[in-house]
Amino acid sequence: MPELPEVETTKRGIKPFLEEKSFVNCITNNASLRIPFDSNSFLLIKDKRIKNISRIAKYISIEFSNNSRLIIHLGMTGTLRVSDKVMGLKHDHIILGINDGKFLIYNDPRRFGLIKILNKDEEFYLIDNNGPDPFEKHVDAEFLFQKIKNRKTNVKAILLNNKIISGIGNIYASEILFDSKISPKKLANRLTVNQCQRIIKSSKKVLNKAIKAGGTTLKDYFNAESRPGYFKNKLFVYGRDGESCKLCKSKIKHIVQNNRSTYFCTTCQRS
Ligand SMILES: [Zn+2]
Repeated sequence: MPELPEVETTKRGIKPFLEEKSFVNCITNNASLRIPFDSNSFLLIKDKRIKNISRIAKYISIEFSNNSRLIIHLGMTGTLRVSDKVMGLKHDHIILGINDGKFLIYNDPRRFGLIKILNKDEEFYLIDNNGPDPFEKHVDAEFLFQKIKNRKTNVKAILLNNKIISGIGNIYASEILFDSKISPKKLANRLTVNQCQRIIKSSKKVLNKAIKAGGTTLKDYFNAESRPGYFKNKLFVYGRDGESCKLCKSKIKHIVQNNRSTYFCTTCQRS
C-alpha cells in the first residue's frame, strides 16, 4: 500500500512533466473508484494552467490557474505515470491528455484509490479532516504530547491515526518506533515530551530515508510502482519476525495490534 514516501516519490516523479502545462482531454475507462470519478467535472480544469503540484498527507493535489484542484489518492494499488502514448494497459482507468501530447495515466487494479476534481473553495472532507504530517513545521514534541496525553491507546495506533498525525502507514509505524526505541505497546498517555520528541525525529528520519530510496528509482519512474518493495532491504523490523535484530541480534517479534501487524525488538524497544 502506498505510504507517504511512495506518494511523495510519485509526486516528484510527475511534477516536472505537469508544471505550467494543462490537461486537454480526459478518457474514463472505469469510473468506479473508491469514490466514483465524475468525468463531467473535468470541464472545471480543462485547458487551465497547472500552477502547483503538492502532497497533502497521502494525497496528491494538482492546483490550476482558476484555483480548482485535482486530488488523487493511490488507495492500495494505484500508480500514476506519464506516458508518450495510450497503451491501453489493464487497469488504466483514467487518462488525462496533457497539452504537449503526453498523458497522465492512473492505473489501479483494486480500485481503492480516487480522483476528485474540486471547484475553487470547495472543501474535501477526506483531506480537510486529516491531521498534519510529520514534516509540517508546527508538528513538534509539544504538539504530539498535547494531542495524545489523555489517550489510553497504544502508541502504534496513535501513529496510524490520520486525524492525529497523517501519512504514516503500517510499515513505517513499526520502523519509526524501532528507531525511537519505544515499545509499540506503550500507552500514549504514558509517553513523555522527550519520547514524543524522539517519535517526531524518527518519523522524519525514516520517511526521509524512504523518500530518498524512492528517489533513486525516479529515473525509471515511467514504470514506477508505488510500492515499498525497493525500501525492503532497508527495513529494520517490519516483516522480519524470527530474524535477528540488526542492532542487538535479539529475535524480532510479531504481534497483532488493532488488527494490524506490528514488528519490534523487545531488547531495543524497552521504553
Ligand atoms: Zn534489537
